[in-house]
Amino acid sequence: MDRRDFLNKLINLPLGFGLVSLLFSSLEGKTKSNKSNYIFLQKDLKTQHLDLSQSGFINQKTQALPGSLMKLITFICLLENKLISPQKEFECRGIIKISEKVYKCQKPHGKMNLEKALAHSCNIFFSQAAQEISLKQFLIYTKLFGFDFKISNKTSPIADYALGLSPEMSIHLASALNLVALIAQQKVRSISGLTYQQLHKAMNLTSIIGTAKLLDDFVACKTGTVLLPNQQLESFQSWIIGFYPVQAPIKAFALLTTSGSSQKAAIPLAKQLLQF
Ligand SMILES: [Zn+2]
Repeated sequence: MDRRDFLNKLINLPLGFGLVSLLFSSLEGKTKSNKSNYIFLQKDLKTQHLDLSQSGFINQKTQALPGSLMKLITFICLLENKLISPQKEFECRGIIKISEKVYKCQKPHGKMNLEKALAHSCNIFFSQAAQEISLKQFLIYTKLFGFDFKISNKTSPIADYALGLSPEMSIHLASALNLVALIAQQKVRSISGLTYQQLHKAMNLTSIIGTAKLLDDFVACKTGTVLLPNQQLESFQSWIIGFYPVQAPIKAFALLTTSGSSQKAAIPLAKQLLQF
């Protein structure tokens, strides 16, 4: 078995993330001479072949908070438990205070339903909608999609989990790729076809009118930007994960950058790496 087969095998283990550090140390070895501040993985959904040819390099931090990637799980949890109607709207005025905690959007989005809120990654919508979810309920879905978060007794507000901001939620790039591949192929069988259909549509809208509108329309994706703690202002990590073509996915990808917002770093870089 050569190194590529070995890595492919590793990444295809649905819950085998204990081994992921091996994957990253192996990538580190491969790309040491070509330092860059991102890591990118792409997977062929038919053959399960993992393309490492443009994998990039991240110095040491191979984990990051998922940020808005977690809204994919929140979206599924809300619909599967019928906690929200797809038509239900919340007005985004750019800022909201829930139980003494403030949530913000970069700009007021106006009236948002679930689909538009995912496309625009509206924190105001999701922080309010999340009030209907229990943490126990939410963690059932994170587990179904391969995450094994160790949640302490001193939990964060539910909106922090729904927005992927709780410090206990740090994830690897391989877990992010696994999440989007499972969504693309509708592999978690307990989730209804209708929920997948609505999620795919909202993820497609993300690259048509939403946060990734610089990307091509046949991609379904989700972006995320996480402010680094204890850093100067404007210091971010950013994500984009997705699949294409929307109607019959053949590729899934995940990109993490160690600096810059998704608008300034992850999306332009993804466009370049995906070579549309
Ligand atoms: Zn908003």
